[in-house]
Amino acid sequence: MTIYEQFGVEPAINACGTVTRLGGAPMPAAVLEAFRQAAGHSVSLEQLQAAAAQRIAAATGAESGLVTSGSAAALTLGAAAIIAGDDLALMERLPHVGAAPCEFIVAREQRSGYDHAVRAAGATLQEVGFNEIVAGAGVRRTEAWEYRAAFSERTAGVLYVAGPQAAPPLEQVVGEARSRGLPVLVDAAGELPPRSNLKAFVDAGADLVAFSGGKAIRGPQSTGILCGRRELIASAALQMLDMDDHLELWDPPPDLIDPELLDGIPRHGIGRGLKVSKEEIVALLAALELFQSGEYDRELPEMRRRLERIVAGLDGCPVSCEIHDAADGQSPPQLILTVEPAASVSAMGLCGRLRAGAPPIYLGHGQLASSRLVVNPLCLHDGHAEVIAQRLREELAQNP
Ligand SMILES: *Cc1c(COP(=O)(O)O)cnc(C)c1O
Repeated sequence: MTIYEQFGVEPAINACGTVTRLGGAPMPAAVLEAFRQAAGHSVSLEQLQAAAAQRIAAATGAESGLVTSGSAAALTLGAAAIIAGDDLALMERLPHVGAAPCEFIVAREQRSGYDHAVRAAGATLQEVGFNEIVAGAGVRRTEAWEYRAAFSERTAGVLYVAGPQAAPPLEQVVGEARSRGLPVLVDAAGELPPRSNLKAFVDAGADLVAFSGGKAIRGPQSTGILCGRRELIASAALQMLDMDDHLELWDPPPDLIDPELLDGIPRHGIGRGLKVSKEEIVALLAALELFQSGEYDRELPEMRRRLERIVAGLDGCPVSCEIHDAADGQSPPQLILTVEPAASVSAMGLCGRLRAGAPPIYLGHGQLASSRLVVNPLCLHDGHAEVIAQRLREELAQNP
């Protein structure tokens, strides 16, 4: 019996990857051990975050960094840092910005539910460009001049959502923003691997970059990384860390927060509710080291064999199977199952029936509109491939 069954919750077979809805990534034993050891002592969170800043800086090439409670929290803190800077009164007031510039320019096609995290800091989003390709009305995407045309005295910065297909290129957006002295905040939550992306967005000139800690890095699900320019990270840290101290006694590590640059000690900021525990910080740093070392690549052959066993188990079923290996040589392979028209059940129906079974099985549901189910092997355990194939066979054998 698993610990979850003591709470009446049945563990699921997760064939979706590190999705938040199913609890994120599998934490390696070394990460869990780091978490356990960290729990045994009290420590100054400011000092621990300053140590984390050094590790994150080394891993990303950024000047500084912060462990946050997820990438979404990193976006809230990043926006808060850009809006408030070192203004203690503004830190105290957020998300109410008063007369301060608070607009972030964003490509319309880069809008998503995650930008709520940016708006939560008090930012408003000013959209540029169109999504003509999706609209079927044209061939062009957002262009750099459209950002330039949108900049005004109300602009605080630019929000850019990174991705292999993101347009225009980040370098061009940074070029436009720099010419107006405006910072660029990059959402790169899910852009790892490849490992080279740890540095790519900083190299391209981003002022702040947000990564998830609980996806491919395999830290605690509730962690993330914000990295970037030293003074912005200092502002983010001030707005997240607990500030209940006397100015006379307060002694933050100067390489994270330089008190000389402040005219007082801020009160608890907008990020106080986004706190990260000492255990989470240490576990995330342990996971970051493993991720950077390439250690996880060793699991890729076994992940592929698991997908091959599912394919073998579906022989003769009305689904076509294709395994896609990742071009970066670092991401898990994916199995695409296309449900044929002759099947007695639709891809949506199959997805629902597998979730409703015992044990519940969650298949990737991002391509159901094209009758495809996606199997991501990252969170599968021994024996799961066989159960998935067997349950699919059972459901596909049902008469309509
Ligand atoms: C996952 C994701 C987030 C949120 O990351 P968390 O670490 O879960 O907070 C934000 N933006 C994008 C594009 C994501 O894929």
